[in-house]
Amino acid sequence: MSLLVQKFGGSSVANLERIRNVANKIKKFKDKGDDLIIVLSAMSGETDRLLNLAKSIDQFPNQREMDVILSTGEQVTVALLSMTLNAMGIKAKSYTGTQAGILTNNVHTKAKIQSIAEDRIRKDLDDGYVVVVAGFQGVTIDGEITTLGRGGSDTTAVALAAQFKADECQIYTDVDGVYTTDPRIEKKARKLDTITFEEMLELASLGSKVLQIRSVELAGKYNVPLRVLSSLLEEPGNGTLITFEEKEHYVESEIITGIALNRDETQITVLGVPDTPGIAFNILDAIGQENIDVDLIVQNISEDGTTDFTFTVNAPDYDRALMITQKVADSMNARQVFGRTDIAKLSIVGVGMRSNSGVASRMFHALAQEKINILMISTSEIKVSVIIESKYAELAVRVLHDEFNLHIEP
Ligand code: ASP
Ligand code: MG
Repeated sequence: MSLLVQKFGGSSVANLERIRNVANKIKKFKDKGDDLIIVLSAMSGETDRLLNLAKSIDQFPNQREMDVILSTGEQVTVALLSMTLNAMGIKAKSYTGTQAGILTNNVHTKAKIQSIAEDRIRKDLDDGYVVVVAGFQGVTIDGEITTLGRGGSDTTAVALAAQFKADECQIYTDVDGVYTTDPRIEKKARKLDTITFEEMLELASLGSKVLQIRSVELAGKYNVPLRVLSSLLEEPGNGTLITFEEKEHYVESEIITGIALNRDETQITVLGVPDTPGIAFNILDAIGQENIDVDLIVQNISEDGTTDFTFTVNAPDYDRALMITQKVADSMNARQVFGRTDIAKLSIVGVGMRSNSGVASRMFHALAQEKINILMISTSEIKVSVIIESKYAELAVRVLHDEFNLHIEP
């Protein structure tokens, strides 16, 4: 008998039939005697629908009101699942983030969890209830509803698992695990039995949508055993377990663990800024003030006393970032600001890079052979990322999957 936190994503609760499937899965665990905290997303497409409704009123809607509307999607699914379980004779109770006492800071639409109240949920578990919690949301100390950023239900699940010291946090999703790359792009992509926490963190930060990055960070911080499994398969198998240990030796097909593609990247360039101390600070500080994350940054070597400054931001932040940059650029007498959205970030990730040199040059060589131009580069100890034109993105993924023999079982 264990305490499990199980999270089901939007496609797993997309309609009443899928919700019934989830209920049947839960019943199997309940029959074994497990205690269960279930975390749900909104029905797939629902959060986007709500977002678009809001944006059709105001391109930059009030962030507090955004959270009030966005949090409704999850409220619907938790109630429907609890009703379904009840109808099957299983005791279940739904909770919104507020009811569950998931306290967050007050950064609307990107809030961070600060604490979780234990008493009510603990008592329900002791009384034999399946506890069903709305993912992606919380409440501030002032009683304001907040949401945790897109994909935030994963983070709710991991936070609950950490708080209640769950034996495992299981993320049920529409894929049966973490793959070497997106199987829709590369048919030879292979499911990984395990992946290290560090690699998963990189992949999540690089645009792999399997897990929200915040959830992986939290799992690392609190050592939460985290597993990704299929919610659609009758027998989900073992999925992919995120591990905390590292190997000593890597065979050829393990130097790289995965390839991530992020099409949500956009690029902003400021041309002809006077090359004086504080350029990067002035531009990036203004962007940061608006809670926009900047990813890659390049500043050119200056020749005539002016320089060019380029950085990337996520697509949803592009319009705002461009507007802010234009303002700062004007105040610095920069020559011109321009942006482009037809780019993608392609990354290779693997802890095996630490003990193998020449990985980056192998990547650049493979891309060059296909005449794929690299616009920006960034590296860390266990990853290499390049910005390329998005029209080459899929080809590039396949080229690198072959180059590093990722289809071969180690
Ligand atoms: N429903 C939210 C979203 O679509 C949160 C989640 O599914 O994790 O981003
Ligand atoms: Mg998700």
